[in-house]
Amino acid sequence: MTILHNRIRCKKCGDVIESKHRHDFVWCSCKSVFVDGGREYIRGGWPGGEYTDWVEELHEFQEDPKPENLSPPCEFYDPTDNGNQGS
Ligand SMILES: [Zn+2]
Repeated sequence: MTILHNRIRCKKCGDVIESKHRHDFVWCSCKSVFVDGGREYIRGGWPGGEYTDWVEELHEFQEDPKPENLSPPCEFYDPTDNGNQGS
């Protein structure tokens, strides 16, 4: 599977963010969601709850291997865990 575009839209601020390189770690402007991994792998995060509440997936692949039961290729991060995200 080849990743053509590793990008998502943040449903909170509406930003479309795309990771273009392996270490291209990109936040949306409201710092709710991120993508990383470029065309090497897909990694992303959201603050918790349902992935689909935060993220609209805009990934594009060369093939379309996406079965219905594929879980989101992302992981939770805990914004309270790194201590520097005062609200
Ligand atoms: Zn946002």
